[in-house]
Amino acid sequence: MTTSDIISSDTIVALATSPGANGAIAVIRLSGADAIAIANSVFKGKDLSKQETHTLHFGTIRDGDVIIDEVVISLFIGPNSYTKEHVVEISTHNSNYIIERILSLLIRHGARAAKAGEFTLRAYLNGGLDLSQAEAVADLIASENKASHEIAMNQLRGGISSELQRMREQLINFTALLELELDFGEEDVEFADRSEFLALIGTLKEHVTQLINSFEYGNAIKNGVPVAIIGKPNAGKSTLLNTLLNEERAIVSDIAGTTRDTIEEMMTIDGVTFRFIDTAGLRETLDTIEAIGVARAKEKVAAAKVLLYLYDSLNNTAEEVIEQVKAFHREGLITILVRNKIDLEGGYFANDFDYQIKAELIGGGYADEIVALSAKDPASVARLTSSLVERIRGLVSDNQQVITNIRHVEALKLAFQSMEDVDRGFQIGLSGDLLASHLRDALRHIGTITGQIDVDRDILGTIFGKFCIGK
Ligand code: GDP
Repeated sequence: MTTSDIISSDTIVALATSPGANGAIAVIRLSGADAIAIANSVFKGKDLSKQETHTLHFGTIRDGDVIIDEVVISLFIGPNSYTKEHVVEISTHNSNYIIERILSLLIRHGARAAKAGEFTLRAYLNGGLDLSQAEAVADLIASENKASHEIAMNQLRGGISSELQRMREQLINFTALLELELDFGEEDVEFADRSEFLALIGTLKEHVTQLINSFEYGNAIKNGVPVAIIGKPNAGKSTLLNTLLNEERAIVSDIAGTTRDTIEEMMTIDGVTFRFIDTAGLRETLDTIEAIGVARAKEKVAAAKVLLYLYDSLNNTAEEVIEQVKAFHREGLITILVRNKIDLEGGYFANDFDYQIKAELIGGGYADEIVALSAKDPASVARLTSSLVERIRGLVSDNQQVITNIRHVEALKLAFQSMEDVDRGFQIGLSGDLLASHLRDALRHIGTITGQIDVDRDILGTIFGKFCIGK
């Protein structure tokens, strides 16, 4: 998308529904100053230019004398529309032939084929949506589970925008006071209470940090929470994965080291999508294929949000479990120790076995809990899945805003940096004008998220270019 596309205000047209889908109806959308006139010139029915906004009209679309289809037209008179311009939506029968003919007919009558995201871009440029809401439209359309839908819907409804707006207002108030001081120049007055301000910056910094941290969760929810399943060969990783997926996709076998490569499976449990990654067994080996697998296991854990470490009391020593889990440990990695094959245990000595593991790993903060189960038994595996869902949901508190967009995180990081500069500036007695300039930087960075301040045209192109045509 180029700059000229962004500022153009001609009438655009595109298929708004999925191309090639099997549904009964397709919707073709027109937006722009001439949308109603162009539709009128091919529509036989009521005169659309004389109708009220938000009305439906039955009629035919004609190319000269040829009737192309019987359609229903939805009329939205600007600014009462998604784009704030005149919008006409034509519901046609879902035939590629009909759609192609109507699109080319409309283009012949003065419309232009819309580019990816152009309808939503216009909604943003005309003030119908702010930038983060526009991005939420794309997320909403892409959402495939309850949790990501909730986050996108909240963002679309302005949840994040209003939170950022509150932050901006606080900063703006203070910047104004500071600038007032500067206007008084030599007179050495202080309108802005320094200690109050330091407290405010402290709170804002904390808040921004929370938002930045929520990205890891937000991103995981959007793309599926990556869960690495790790354990020695024969620990039951493939069996567990199969039970989880309730189908035999991974190869299960008694020969140690059969899961040579990694296998990834997606599944949604209670509205949260997980990406389960089964990996090669952690056995020191000279077999090169498996050695590659082990290296990959380490990579996968590095990219995972959750580690399920499988072991059993018959084939593992507590020492090796402790050693391996410690080797994988990293701050923020949710680690669940899965003691498998409890159906084979006598029951009595397993608790002793876990005693040491519990003391070292749970006590030492390397793992969050131990779930004892039999990977072959779905009922016991359900205990693990409910714990997983609970832990993911627990990552964010209720009502907390969640950032799912990398562009927002980058802006928040820059805003945080500017707030740090302000904070440090205060401590070292930086002059008012320099403080004000750092404050304005912070404001600008926050403003780029919602697009309240001018966002670089290139950035707009990138954001809206990711949409499909017709959005
Ligand atoms: P992997 O190498 O870690 O993927 O282990 P597998 O899933 O291939 O399992 C190794 C062997 O242990 C297979 O024979 C499984 O049937 C068996 N196994 C796995 N989980 C259980 C369990 O909970 N109980 C019993 N009795 N056997 C299990």
